[in-house]
Formats: sequence, structure tokens, C-alpha cells
Amino acid sequence: MKIANGCAVSIHYTLTIAPGEVVDSSEGQEPLTYLHGGDQIIPGLERRLAGLEPGAVVTLAVPVAEAYGAPDPTLRVEVPREQFTADVDLTPGAQVIAEGDGEPSVLTILEVRDDRVVLDANHPLAGKDLTYDVEVVGVRRATAAELKHGHVHDGTHRH
Ligand code: ZN
Repeated sequence: MKIANGCAVSIHYTLTIAPGEVVDSSEGQEPLTYLHGGDQIIPGLERRLAGLEPGAVVTLAVPVAEAYGAPDPTLRVEVPREQFTADVDLTPGAQVIAEGDGEPSVLTILEVRDDRVVLDANHPLAGKDLTYDVEVVGVRRATAAELKHGHVHDGTHRH
């Protein structure tokens, strides 16, 4: 069947932001499984996957406006240096994970001063055009429970 809202979809994918510059891939792992129409993947990718069938091998270009958007220069945070544990790599360009109330977010270190660390809170892929090489592995109708939960129940997520 073709990918449409309410489908449980499995894909293998490789994400590049420039030729040969791979930032994420399912290669060597289980395929990514998601609920189509469930707001689980970026909208620009979801839209381009609609209508594809199992076996399809495609390259999908998602422009920055439909991916993570332009970086917001005001999304800078300064954190006292003592809040970082000794195992954190405090090098400009390094990424740290902030565990907040919601989803953990990735911050990029911009500058390290004597007492403070300046971080960029933009998504690491903000400002990037994304290219996904995708192979559609499986498409099936989601179950009632999956639709209710808003995610797919597969090998790694079952309850
Ligand atoms: Zn569930």
C-alpha cells in the first residue's frame, strides 16, 4: 500500500547536509519506524514520503524552510561554568545535551570563558538544506492502539 496518513511506515535512510557529509543514518540498524501523519518526523520529509510504496528508493531534498528553519541568533544561553560536570567536553563546536522538563535538547558550545559557557540553542541542523536517501521498507495500516498513542508499536516499543 502507499504511504498515507494513518500508516505505520518503516524506512531506511541516510541524511546528508552536503555531498558525502552524513549526519544521520539507519544503516546497520533497524529501519526507522514512524506513524505517518503523527507529527513524528519533520513535515517536509513526511510530505515527500506520501504516496511511496515499499521498495521505493528515492532521494528527497528538504529545503531549510521545511526542515529546521533558519538559525535564530537570539537563541544563545550563558551558563555558569560550574554547572558542567568534569566529563563534559568544553570545546567550542562541541555539543552537549541539556535534560530539561521536556525532550532533551542539543546545544552547541560557542565560547568558553573563565566563569561562563556560551551556548547556541538552535537545532544543530538549523540553516541546513537536508538530503535524505530513503528506501521504503514497509507500509501497513496502523492499529487502533497505535493511532490512539500517536506512535508505532514495533520491536523496540511495545506496551
Ligand atoms: Zn503506545
